Amino acid sequence: MRRALEEARAAFDAGEVPVGAVVLDPSGEVIGTGHNDRERAADPTGHAEIIAMRGAASALGAWRLSGCTLVVTLEPCTMCAGAAVQARVGRIAYGAVDLKAGAVGSLWDVVRDRRLNHRPEVVAEVLADECGALLSGFFARRRVR
Ligand SMILES: [Zn+2]
Repeated sequence: MRRALEEARAAFDAGEVPVGAVVLDPSGEVIGTGHNDRERAADPTGHAEIIAMRGAASALGAWRLSGCTLVVTLEPCTMCAGAAVQARVGRIAYGAVDLKAGAVGSLWDVVRDRRLNHRPEVVAEVLADECGALLSGFFARRRVR
């Protein structure tokens, strides 16, 4: 999560909503990193998780991220939670809870829906205060402008 927070800070510095993500392979090595890049890339799918999972899949040369862990500073949205299921990610660890759009337990629970045949394990609220503080700092600064 420390590495994901570094990514989130890079997004913050670039004026993007500060969300960062990393993908760890089964041995714990970082194989993908990403931070929110929606504004710069003008890409509605430019979320940290998507970018980190693309990087990981590219590093592995395979779309299947079985046994990998997706670490992200904010609870994933429906798109990213869905992509994590599609990638067969083994585990999702997230930081701050997203009560407005979270799809890993808050508003929806896309990854533990019993109707799906792949359900990643979830570890919630890892360094949640630190992850959340970065986000509230970002939005507070935007309101002042
Ligand atoms: Zn997302």
